[in-house]
Amino acid sequence: MLHEMRRKKQFLSQELTEEILDRGVTGILAVSGAGDYPYAVPLNFVYETGKIYLHCAKAGHKLDAIRQNNKVSFCVIDKDDIIPEKFTTNFRSAIAFGTVRELEDDAEKLRVMRLLNRKYAPGLELEGEKEIQSAWKALAVLEIQIDQVTGKEAMDLVKMRNGHS
Ligand SMILES: Cc1cc2nc3c(=O)[nH]c(=O)nc-3n(C[C@H](O)[C@H](O)[C@H](O)COP(=O)(O)OP(=O)(O)OC[C@H]3O[C@@H](n4cnc5c(N)ncnc54)[C@H](O)[C@@H]3O)c2cc1C
Repeated sequence: MLHEMRRKKQFLSQELTEEILDRGVTGILAVSGAGDYPYAVPLNFVYETGKIYLHCAKAGHKLDAIRQNNKVSFCVIDKDDIIPEKFTTNFRSAIAFGTVRELEDDAEKLRVMRLLNRKYAPGLELEGEKEIQSAWKALAVLEIQIDQVTGKEAMDLVKMRNGHS
């Protein structure tokens, strides 16, 4: 583990953590950005067996950054219910650390774009194919190979999951 989790009871199992990645719709990609500032940028994504896939334009801040340093972090918020009377948030989230690469192989890029379409536009396969073709030349597809992923939730959610109210 890159950094020990202090509150171990709040640690989620691998299975529950992967469920967050499966159902999440937006994640925040953190990279070592320009001018030594970290750069955290929101993106849609799809998770598949230890890998997170992203798509974007072929140029920009995040691509410049990962070409300099391919180590990244990716955070997905699953739940963020504010409980004012308890001055707390019933949260659940996952944080992955990994190594990112730009896919070069057209067949692999197409496979991932279809995965993204299936997740974000289910039932629109034909329209999705057209969209992929029209965007193709400007399209970069990124793969994060996850080196470590953890899931964590608020203590109240841990208790509820374990049958205590
Ligand atoms: C919910 C959500 C989902 C998204 N999904 C995708 C996706 O799947 N693919 C995709 O390519 N883009 C997505 N975006 C847009 C994404 O956040 C970036 O704006 C985009 O990817 C361009 O990134 P870049 O680093 O190339 O930006 P550049 O155009 O190079 O950015 C230049 C500067 O603009 C500012 N900037 C860039 N993005 C944002 C932003 N989102 N909010 C505020 N300031 C910003 C930053 O200061 C950055 O340094 C999504 C945004 C949101 C909010």
